[in-house]
Amino acid sequence: MSTYRVAVLAGDGIGPEVMHEALSVLSAVEQKYGFSTQRVEKPVGGAGIDACGKALPADTLAACEAADAILFGSVGGPKWESLPPEERPERGALLPLRTHFGLYANLRPGVCLPELSAASPLKDNLIAGGFDILCVRELTGGMYFGKPKFYGERGGELVGLDTMIYHRYEVERIGHLAFCAAQKRKHRLCSVDKANVLNASILWRDVMTELSAQYPDVELSHMYVDNAAMQLVRNPGQFDVIVTENTFGDILTDEMAVICGSLGMLPSASLCTRSGRTFGLYEPSGGSAPDIAGQGVANPIAQILSVGMMLRHSFGQVQAANAIDNAVRAVISAGYRTRDLASGAQGEQVVGTSAMGEAILNAIV
Ligand code: NAD
Repeated sequence: MSTYRVAVLAGDGIGPEVMHEALSVLSAVEQKYGFSTQRVEKPVGGAGIDACGKALPADTLAACEAADAILFGSVGGPKWESLPPEERPERGALLPLRTHFGLYANLRPGVCLPELSAASPLKDNLIAGGFDILCVRELTGGMYFGKPKFYGERGGELVGLDTMIYHRYEVERIGHLAFCAAQKRKHRLCSVDKANVLNASILWRDVMTELSAQYPDVELSHMYVDNAAMQLVRNPGQFDVIVTENTFGDILTDEMAVICGSLGMLPSASLCTRSGRTFGLYEPSGGSAPDIAGQGVANPIAQILSVGMMLRHSFGQVQAANAIDNAVRAVISAGYRTRDLASGAQGEQVVGTSAMGEAILNAIV
């Protein structure tokens, strides 16, 4: 029987509440599909600061090092907001984890199920059948990391400087990943750039075009980022897989999250290759939601779907991952809604965090 080591970092706010449900679902699919996990639970974010004075305690990092994957909840909250920015939970935990492991690829599914289209701010006629987009965002390059960086006086004038730089290998590796993802979906890949203005984008477009020769079964298109932002709200159903650089991806994935309806539905994965295997940090797209923490009303679905992504991408347990995705769809179809998803429509049953987790667990087949 295969056994996988998982570092479980539940974090703050709603993190522990939704993680509890996700781990129950993980146990259920383990039994059903004949594999097991060794889980090591460690504090991170505000919980790390409270326990050991650091958002990413050394012991927590060591547990991640020893693991096959990291299952992350969410971090942050008002309690730690007065700390210096670099010591706060998000900056002090998530960014160092991304950098430490070189997690260069961020996968964010943007799925709006037809039954939940009322939760989306888009008009019904734009999303009648729902939509299913996967955004592949480059996560360790581009303007957020490019050097030089500068803020200060130059020539008697206050200046801010950032550098958008991409190397060929960075575009190639994210490109391969995106083409492979498209092969497992509808075989359509839209590469988003700003090649009419930026050199880094010209390189991006050239490399993506070159790679497409290796993936004749995937239809590659290119779109400028300003148009992509517009097309996402005009006709999200036109997209299958989007691949884009770090800054553009940051903005477009937030836009995607909004048009999907609720942050509580969206998982994400940040991936790299480690010892020849896909290592990843899997987490909900939302934050620690301090406004609803401790009330038992948080939607656990994003955390549960993050388990599914972990099984699919790091452990190759595709059947178990499909079972989780299908169980979530079944429960939504049956009318179960956490508060963030409720529209007041007939047939809806508004439930709390644990009842939603239990319904999904019972729907695993
Ligand atoms: P947030 O994502 O925590 O919350 C935004 C809104 O979405 C809130 O109204 C919240 O109640 C709702 N929401 C989010 N997840 C939900 C869920 N699972 N179920 C139901 N509703 C949900 O963003 P914020 O309020 O801007 O930030 C709160 C804290 O989280 C801050 O400290 C921020 O730094 C941190 N944060 C952490 C991460 C992370 O850990 N990856 C990401 C974003 C924000």
